[in-house]
Amino acid sequence: MNTLDQLHADIDTRVKAIRDSHADWLCGMGCDGCCHRLAEIPMLSPAEWDYLKQGLAELPLELLREISQGIAALAEQTARPIVCPLLDRSAGMCRVYAHRPVACRTYGFYVQRDQGLYCNDIKSRVADGAWADVVWGNQDVIDRRLADLGDAKELTEWFAEWTKGESSVGGIDK
Ligand code: SF4
Ligand code: SF4
Repeated sequence: MNTLDQLHADIDTRVKAIRDSHADWLCGMGCDGCCHRLAEIPMLSPAEWDYLKQGLAELPLELLREISQGIAALAEQTARPIVCPLLDRSAGMCRVYAHRPVACRTYGFYVQRDQGLYCNDIKSRVADGAWADVVWGNQDVIDRRLADLGDAKELTEWFAEWTKGESSVGGIDK
């Protein structure tokens, strides 16, 4: 079965195995470099967007308004990389952590066949030989499973559709 829940469970298993065997793993609360340097606007499958939307709807209204403005600004931005509009910049925390997209769950723990690791901090540790024994997850498999969940769209597109034609959606006054 290939559902978003199953995908999350499989990623959690791989991530836990890596963390359990490497107590000094870098990824953790306050390490937000990856959220500051997104190469592109996040792409989400329909299932990921539905889940993320639940997380957004749970946020306080003021915060949701702030995020809404950040996402609208991102739709106009051409410069890259970008800072994720869902990041709490002062705390270095994801505001929708439990509902974050799949790419955010695999980042730092999975490797893409043609591109390798994405995080330079982790690459440095690997280059030092410190983590030569890590059994990385396979990002290409994750991408194929995500493709089975439907056509992905940019976060900005999903968000615009959510708020389209409504005076107030999810408590956001336009
Ligand atoms: S992927 Fe890199 S920047 Fe992101 S949390 Fe892990 S160590 Fe930090
Ligand atoms: S959704 Fe959360 S974890 Fe993913 S890039 Fe944005 S702030 Fe970071």
